Amino acid sequence: MSSSNESHALKSYRPESLMMSHGYKPELSEGAIKCPIFQTSTFVFRTAEEGKAFFEVAYGHRAQEPGEKLGLIYSRLNNPDLEILEDRLCLWDGAEDCAVFESGMSAITTVLLEFLRPGSLLLYSKPIYGGTDHFIREVLPQWGISVLGFNAHSTESQVIELIESSGMASRLALVYAETPANPTNALVDLAMCRRIADRYSRPEVRVPVAVDNTYLGPIWQHPLKHGADLVLYSATKYIGGHSDVIAGACLGSKEVMTRIKTLRTFLGNMAGPWTGWLLLRSLETLKVRMDRQAETAAVVAGFLRDHPKVRKVYYLGFIRPDSTAYPIFQAQCTSAGAMISFEIDGGEAEAFRFLNALRLIHLAVSLGSTESLAEHPATMTHVDVSPEDRAAFGISPALVRLSVGVEAPEDLIDDISRALDAL
Ligand SMILES: *Cc1c(COP(=O)(O)O)cnc(C)c1O
Repeated sequence: MSSSNESHALKSYRPESLMMSHGYKPELSEGAIKCPIFQTSTFVFRTAEEGKAFFEVAYGHRAQEPGEKLGLIYSRLNNPDLEILEDRLCLWDGAEDCAVFESGMSAITTVLLEFLRPGSLLLYSKPIYGGTDHFIREVLPQWGISVLGFNAHSTESQVIELIESSGMASRLALVYAETPANPTNALVDLAMCRRIADRYSRPEVRVPVAVDNTYLGPIWQHPLKHGADLVLYSATKYIGGHSDVIAGACLGSKEVMTRIKTLRTFLGNMAGPWTGWLLLRSLETLKVRMDRQAETAAVVAGFLRDHPKVRKVYYLGFIRPDSTAYPIFQAQCTSAGAMISFEIDGGEAEAFRFLNALRLIHLAVSLGSTESLAEHPATMTHVDVSPEDRAAFGISPALVRLSVGVEAPEDLIDDISRALDAL
């Protein structure tokens, strides 16, 4: 929406410098410095000819003229708050296009439904977000879609062996990865996912790679640069960042996003203007929030590692240089992030006593927000995971997951220290 002169002049600036202005023209909104909430279901065409032209483009009946934008038609198709938000989200990931959804799950399920058909095979990494896991294992098979999960720690030859022994290699239609994996920060090698997708691509189908980047994005990991075709977010987490909105996003090339946006139009699962406006506001502080959260998390992780009542700490900053995860971390991640899981000396009873004793940190699921949150994966976010998988992924009864917020590190440590003393 910005004039070409303006966008050219600002092109070299960093995303955090552009989050207050990119894509918004004050002169179209009475000079308002901030984008208003366009709380409207439909948009008035100046002439019938204009309405016809907008629909021709929206329905793909003719190619867009150079520089021609899709005109505003109806808020299920487009709305200024969503379009500006989508333009701004593109800057972080270096993506051509973005679609915002009413939840992370609606972004994820729309991608799965667009790229899978009855008879298709989906390859996905494990462990994976509980809602995604349920949709993949319980819903997709009802549509005749086969699914195959690989452990995040698998080597490339183990994943290939898994595909080959399934007898469904020729039907592979999508590779779906979540990295770092929740709750233990296991890393999936995205370059490996790309090679596997290429290996099983056929002349008529190029197998795409989709990556859930909620845990480190959009600042600390950019999957499109590592061969992914689609990046997915629960924008409820870091992007929203204040635990007050549910939303999702998907980014990729113009070509894949045209498919995703078309399906979104007909599923009708786009976000509304109020959600769009809240996320625009959140994006202005995204970089400072996430930087601060990561700095604080490093201090908290150090405290936990040295505490006698803590057995094990899963934190990206503690990956040892001699481990197989280290080169993946070096290649893919620009920060250790703000998610820490740790095992308390004991079992469920001790973990619960610790959680119940916290005062500053809240006991709640979700992550990436300004306030620190703690939860118990084995009985909460990962209760649906089979006991064998829970054991394989290190989700023990003594494991606590912590999302570090923007509080003073000394105060968080005081709270954690007091709660550990209660054991
Ligand atoms: C929260 C979350 C989701 C689901 O997002 P919603 O916004 O709750 O629908 C998907 N993936 C990951 C990694 C998440 O943490």
